[in-house]
Amino acid sequence: MEIRIDGVGKSYVAEGKEVRALDRVDLTIPANRIFTLLGPSGCGKTTLLRCIVGLETPDSGEIRIGGEIVWSAARGINVPPEKRGLGMVFQTYAIWPHMSVFDNVAYPLQIRGLARREIDAKVAAALRFVQLEGLDKRSATRLSGGQQQRVALARALVAEPKVILFDEPLSNLDAKLREETRKELKTFLGQLGITAVYVTHDRVEALALSDAIAVMRAGAIVEIGTPQKIYFQADHRFVADFIGRANLIDAKVRGVEGGHTVVDTALGAFACQQRDLAAGSEATLCIRPEFMRVDAGSAAAGVNNTVDGVVESIAFVGEVYEVEIRAAGLLLLARVEPDAEIHAGDTVRFGVDPAHCLLVSR
Ligand code: ATP
Repeated sequence: MEIRIDGVGKSYVAEGKEVRALDRVDLTIPANRIFTLLGPSGCGKTTLLRCIVGLETPDSGEIRIGGEIVWSAARGINVPPEKRGLGMVFQTYAIWPHMSVFDNVAYPLQIRGLARREIDAKVAAALRFVQLEGLDKRSATRLSGGQQQRVALARALVAEPKVILFDEPLSNLDAKLREETRKELKTFLGQLGITAVYVTHDRVEALALSDAIAVMRAGAIVEIGTPQKIYFQADHRFVADFIGRANLIDAKVRGVEGGHTVVDTALGAFACQQRDLAAGSEATLCIRPEFMRVDAGSAAAGVNNTVDGVVESIAFVGEVYEVEIRAAGLLLLARVEPDAEIHAGDTVRFGVDPAHCLLVSR
């Protein structure tokens, strides 16, 4: 079910000052996909999610879920949360500690007054789906964090929502469990094929889980795209920086040469992926650390995309070394294989394929 958000604004007053949490947001969330709202703390992700659910009242705009208007300032429509047909999973598992797994999952059906036999069947199906069958009599608190989050998911699913919304559901789990639960969640949601709206500030979670990501800043959507588009082909410096480690270098466009947009930077000339930018305009050259090719020795003078630098630090982080290289006063980050013969103080040459030189906004 598609969700359409038109001109939704929301301000709060805190300590006598207005905080613009949402700045007239326009957004279409496609049906039956995992759509993630990603952005730094305070950018308005939770406020937007709560406006969709109906737990927050916007100041302006319109929200449609599957074509039905659930909120409209102009038309005076405000459908209450329980009538919007949505399921929600929060950061805190929000399961009831004094209840069994069964009673936690059955709760939304009990308040709807369903017959006992129907409740039993639906709860059993939901628990089977999240692979918790056989644990229905267990006290909900006597489960691992990942299992508790699956109880919360089963409870959200049991009422057969049209849309399911998640607000940082994995942030209370430790790193390994978070990764496992993330994979399970992706599988579950893929099988269900319902619209999922997912809020996180964790870029890896967003990249691994989503069909599409909307990156937010200061109450506005900056850019929307697939994880690959957002990571490799961002338009905005803010997005390129937020979604992953990046070397961001001020650049001035020289023009198009041989199918590449050539820019001048403090490091010299760089041939980049072609972008529609006027000669003389300012841009940012974005190079991901994994695309820096680092070799011992000096660069041949005047060669595009190749620069001399001095290794300032080198850190072993598991699969690779992270190397900081000082060049033309800039500190750049490269990821190199553990077997590379590189040491602090070495003069090195690094080069970048033009295909991996991305130009984003200044
Ligand atoms: P986080 O990742 O930290 O949860 P977020 O992106 O979800 O952040 P929101 O919780 O939507 O951000 O908050 C957006 C802005 O609105 C912030 O500046 C926040 O301080 C402010 N805000 C949110 N709720 C209230 C409130 N009830 N009263 C006053 N200001 C609020």
